[in-house]
Formats: sequence, C-alpha cells, structure tokens
Amino acid sequence: MFTDLNSPFQHLKHPILSDLWIKRDDLIDPYISGNKWRKLKYILEDAAEKGKHHLVTFGGAYSNHLVATAAAAARSGLKATAFVRGEKVMNEMLLLCQLYGMEFIFTDRESYRDKPGCYERYFGTNPRTYFIDEGGASAAAVKGCAEIIAELPADLDHLFCAAGTGTTAAGLLKGIREAGLKTKLHVVPVLKGAEFIREEIYRYAPQPALNIPLPDDLILYTDYHFGGYAKTQPELLHFLRTFTAISGILTDPVYTAKMFFAIYDLAEKGYFKANEKIAAIHTGGLLGIMGMKEKIAL
Ligand SMILES: *Cc1c(COP(=O)(O)O)cnc(C)c1O
Repeated sequence: MFTDLNSPFQHLKHPILSDLWIKRDDLIDPYISGNKWRKLKYILEDAAEKGKHHLVTFGGAYSNHLVATAAAAARSGLKATAFVRGEKVMNEMLLLCQLYGMEFIFTDRESYRDKPGCYERYFGTNPRTYFIDEGGASAAAVKGCAEIIAELPADLDHLFCAAGTGTTAAGLLKGIREAGLKTKLHVVPVLKGAEFIREEIYRYAPQPALNIPLPDDLILYTDYHFGGYAKTQPELLHFLRTFTAISGILTDPVYTAKMFFAIYDLAEKGYFKANEKIAAIHTGGLLGIMGMKEKIAL
C-alpha cells in the first residue's frame, strides 16, 4: 500500500510568479489522500509491529482522515472504528468509510473532547486495538510528512502548506532543518486564532543549540482562515472556481483553496522577489468539496 512512488512536482503558469511549483500529493491515492497518506505510513507500521489488528480513531463527519484510515485499514487487513463527532448522520464521506468496513461510534461534542477517555471506555481492555488521534497527529505522522522534503528540489526559496493540527507543517520544518536547507516554510492555518500551531510545529522540529538564534524559517499566517475551520466566504469560493478552471487542479474549500489564495494574494502584494522559487504542497482532501457542495455550486 505504501509504495516509494514520488508524487509529481508540477509547474504552474502564474500571471506574476515565474516559478510556482506544486507537489501533487493529492495524486498519491484518491482515498488515502495527500498528507493523510504521509501521516498513516508510519502509524500503520507501528501498529503492525505492535501486533495490533484494529485501528480506532476520531473525526468529524466530513473528515478526510476517517476515509483515509478506513481505506488504509481495509487494504492492510485491519479493522477500523471511528468515534464520529456529533449526532448520527450519513454522507458521502461516511458512506466511503462504511464501504471500507469502518464502524462508527457517534459521540456528542462534550464527550468527544476527551478522546483518551472515549477510547478507554470502549477499548481500554482490548490488547489488539490501536489509538490514532484525530487527524493522525503524532510523532510517527511528523516523520512521514518530513519525507516530502527529500522529494523536492533543495533550492526552493518558499514552501507553502495548509494547516489544521500543524502536524504536516511540523514534518516539513523538521525535514527542512534536518537537511540544512534555506527554504522558508509558509504555513496557512485554516482555523481562526491558530497562533497555537507555532508551538505545535516547534515541538517536533529539531531546535538549534541554545546559543544559536532561532532561524526565521517559519512564517505563520493567521488571516487566511475565512471565518474559521470549514467556514468560507464568497471571495474564497470565487477564487476556488477560477483557480480550478485556469489550472485544471482541483482544490477543496476547507484546506488547499485557502493556501493557494494566500500565495496569489501575497504575489499580488509584491511579497516575492523576482526569480524566487516558490512551491506549494497539495495536501489532497478533495472529498472535502462534497461537504460544501451547496455553497460551492453556482
Ligand atoms: C487534514 C488536512 C490538512 C491538515 O493537516 P495537519 O497536519 O492537520 O495540519 C491539510 N490539507 C488537507 C487537504 C487535509 O486533508
């Protein structure tokens, strides 16, 4: 399931930037999409080493992580159960999960907040179950995401990614620092008030020695959330439609559309210098379009 196949690195024509490149992790797999594939790689390896046969994880009803975990479990011959936040529902994403054999435990928002507690209550005494945090956040996930850097050219000036938990960004920064690259990492959180993500990223990225100043290799944008997680605004949807029509690259309104919007906005504001090499990670998540089809449709 986890091959060594590198995802394509595609050049995109841009009205201002000469060098905009896209790492097409969205093309790795249609259901174990993008960064979820990167994150699950070492999580599944760890589960296998520990002799676990049942993955237990957490997500909202439109979670890319749930579909990815369900597909990965089915392909690895493992069982999967998800605590799904909120009341019992069915939608396109959960349907896919169900086809992959995943079972659901719908959990009210209050109880859902205490994930270890939920796990403990149902599976505490089961030696074969394996806890995977919401979104796959873990050191194993960071390790998987760090591997993206080795698949990119070493001379990138700027690298962009969208962030939810910040795990993917942490992996990228880890990869950049371990390889000693000059690349600046630009992180576009999709939630409101996401300053906490900086701590999350620094927790995993190797830190320089005490007497060496912190490098300014991480730039966090807290103004491109468009109202918060899974929130959108007409300007973002207009961008999403236009970008897809001119590039042929689908983006989703929850994550990557916000990141691409940020790149285009910064370019228009003259942020980048001539001849700088700019790249973005397309982290996938295209099924997220389904969660907002009424809003996106004209
Ligand atoms: C889950 C997801 C993210 C967020 O990744 P984090 O590691 O949680 O920051 C970004 N993009 C897409 C498409 C996703 O599905």
